[in-house]
Amino acid sequence: MPPDLLFRALAAKGFMPEGEGAFLHRIACERLAHGPGLEVGSYCGKSAIYLGAAARAAGGTVFTVDHHRGSEENQPGWEHHDPSLVDEELGVMDTLPTFRRTIARAGLEEHVVAVVGPSTTVAAHWHTPLSLLFIDGGHAEVHAQNDYSGFAPWLVTGGALVIHDVFERPEEGGQPPYHVWLRAVASGCFEPVQTVGSMRWLVRVSGGAGDAAG
Ligand code: SAH
Ligand code: MG
Repeated sequence: MPPDLLFRALAAKGFMPEGEGAFLHRIACERLAHGPGLEVGSYCGKSAIYLGAAARAAGGTVFTVDHHRGSEENQPGWEHHDPSLVDEELGVMDTLPTFRRTIARAGLEEHVVAVVGPSTTVAAHWHTPLSLLFIDGGHAEVHAQNDYSGFAPWLVTGGALVIHDVFERPEEGGQPPYHVWLRAVASGCFEPVQTVGSMRWLVRVSGGAGDAAG
């Protein structure tokens, strides 16, 4: 990571430890020269800086999907609520203004493209093969599973599937991202490559978007 972007990433609001962000950046540097990447779960743009730095270096693009209304745990009264991110007029979370400032200040607006809406709606209309898919959206079972079923089919063979907040043991954290990882491995289309913290990198080994139909 260029030091100025690392500084921006560390200063940004969000949920991405430095070691895992650097890992994501390294994977993205390898992949984004081959085609666009997509992140589910933009929040305030912290992980998008790690991805965007790689996109800039590769001359590529990363799309990042979020309805910007926050996950369950970001709502008032929950563990990860930040009252400074509430739209006073509507009385709901709105992380989009903060996200836009984060990406603009990092100078990454050419490389990081926000897609604003529910991930299922975006996925239903998505038609572009992906070199990288980073799943870091809603952590309820239904959301995590939808993010995988909606976007993983668009990963090309050789593409990187990266899943955040994967905890094998319930004492460590919620299980849905781990269930998605198990599902990906059980499909036979993905093989684990490497893990750093709660971040798991898999590679698509078969059945990728654009492969000749068997
Ligand atoms: N990657 C971020 C953290 C993402 S937090 C970082 O680096 O800090 C998870 C995000 O997923 C939240 O911003 C929430 O609004 C979004 N989200 C949850 N469920 C969603 C859904 N069904 N569709 C779109 N976005 C969703
Ligand atoms: Mg996360």
